[in-house]
Amino acid sequence: MAQRRLHDHDSGEGLLSVEEAREKVLSQIHPLAPLQLPLVEAAGCVLAEDVVSGQDLPAFASSAMDGYAVRADDVSGSSPANPVELKLVGRAVIGHRPDGTVGAGEAIAIATGAPVPAGADAIVPVENTEDAGDLVRVFEGAAPGTHVRPLGEDVRAGATLVHQGRRLGAPELGLLANAGIPHPVVHPRPRVMVLSTGDELIPPTGEPTYGQVRDANAYTIFAALKEAGASPVLAGIVRDDVDQLRETVLSYLIQADAFVSSGGVSVGERDVVKAAFFKRGDVEFFKVAMQPGMPQGFGHIEGKPYFGLPGNPVSVFVSFEVLVRPAILKMLGRTELARPEVSATLTADVRGPKGKLQFARVEVRRGAGGWEATPTGSRGSNLISTLARANGLAMVPAGTETAAAGSEVRVMVFRSSED
Ligand code: AMP
Ligand code: MG
Repeated sequence: MAQRRLHDHDSGEGLLSVEEAREKVLSQIHPLAPLQLPLVEAAGCVLAEDVVSGQDLPAFASSAMDGYAVRADDVSGSSPANPVELKLVGRAVIGHRPDGTVGAGEAIAIATGAPVPAGADAIVPVENTEDAGDLVRVFEGAAPGTHVRPLGEDVRAGATLVHQGRRLGAPELGLLANAGIPHPVVHPRPRVMVLSTGDELIPPTGEPTYGQVRDANAYTIFAALKEAGASPVLAGIVRDDVDQLRETVLSYLIQADAFVSSGGVSVGERDVVKAAFFKRGDVEFFKVAMQPGMPQGFGHIEGKPYFGLPGNPVSVFVSFEVLVRPAILKMLGRTELARPEVSATLTADVRGPKGKLQFARVEVRRGAGGWEATPTGSRGSNLISTLARANGLAMVPAGTETAAAGSEVRVMVFRSSED
C-alpha cells in the first residue's frame, strides 16, 4: 500500500499570495456611480466632481467689529487729544442692507457682521469712540479697509471650492453649505448586507443549548463596515441550507450594493456558501497564503459583489481587513486603500505557519526606542478576545517560522491610540 502523505497545513504551496488575492478582488470592484446627496448624507463621502463657486464669498463687505462705519479720510488725523466729531446718520444692523450712506463728516453705527454702508470704507471700534447724542467722537484714525471684511476675500466666483476626490469632512461641509451647494455629487455609501451562515448559530440575545454559538461575526462585520464608511444591514442568520441561502441573498439583491457572509467556504461540498454559489459560477473560491483567513469566496451575484469570508471570528476580522475593507473604500471612491503601517519591535516571539503570511494580533505602543508590538495571545483563529485586546496586526512574512522577540515587524494599525 502506498504511503499516504499528510497534508501540511502550514504550507503555502499552490495558494494565492495576499497581494494576488487583493488584486483579484480590487480589479473587479469599482466606485459606486455618483449621485447628488443632501449635505447631511454626503458627510464623509468622496466628492465625484469639482465644485465651483457661483458667487463671491463673503457675498458682501461686513464689519469685523461693533463700532462706527466712517470715511477713512474723515478720521485720518484723529487722536485722544484731538478727536474728530462725526454726525451720526443711522445704524447698520446684521442681516439687512443698510438704508443710509455715509457722506463726508458722517458715521453710521454698525454691529459685527452687518454690511458696510455705501460711502464708508473703514470701521472704528466702539471702544475708541464716545457717543455724544447726534454726534460720535472718534479718538483714533483708521486706514481704508480697517476692520472691514471685504467681499470675495475668501472665495471668488468661478473658483473651485472643493476638488473631486476630496472626502467631505466638517470644514468642506460647512463651506459647501455656505456657498449654496446643498446637494453635492458624491460616491454614495455602499449598502452592504451582512449574513451569518451556520446551523449552530443563535442571535446574541439567545441562550445557547450545548453546542450552539452566539453569532459574533455579523456584529464584527457590521462594525467594521460602518467604520470603513459603508451602510451595513444585518440580514440575519442563515442555516446551512443551500436553498435558504440562495433565497435570502436573492431577496436582498434589490437593496444591496454588496454582500458579506461568514462561514461555509471551507473545503467541503457541504459548505453552504460554496454549495449555493460555486456551481452557478458566480462566486469563485480560493485559498490565500495567509493565516488566519485562508479560504475565501469572492464574485458577483447578479452584478453585486459577494464576499464569502471564513467562519472563525478572527479569520473574519483579518479577511475583512485584508480583502473587504480596501474594496469598500474603493466603492466609496477613495484612492488610499491601505491602513497605516508602523515598524515595531516584537516584545515576544511570534510563531507562524512557514508557508503563509501570518497576521498576528498585537498591541502596538510607543516605547522608549520606537514602536513596540506585544502579542495579545496565541494564534487560534477562534480566540476572539485576543483580537479585542489588539490594535494592530503584525505581519510575519511567509518563510519566517518564528519572528523572535527583539526583531522588527511591520504592523498594520487598525485602531488609533486615542480609541
Ligand atoms: P465554518 O467556516 O462555517 O465551518 O465555521 C468555522 C468555525 O467558526 C466554526 O467553529 C463555527 O461555529 C464558527 N463560526 C461560524 N460562524 C460564526 C459566527 N457568525 N459567530 C461565531 N462563530 C462562528
Ligand atoms: Mg459553518
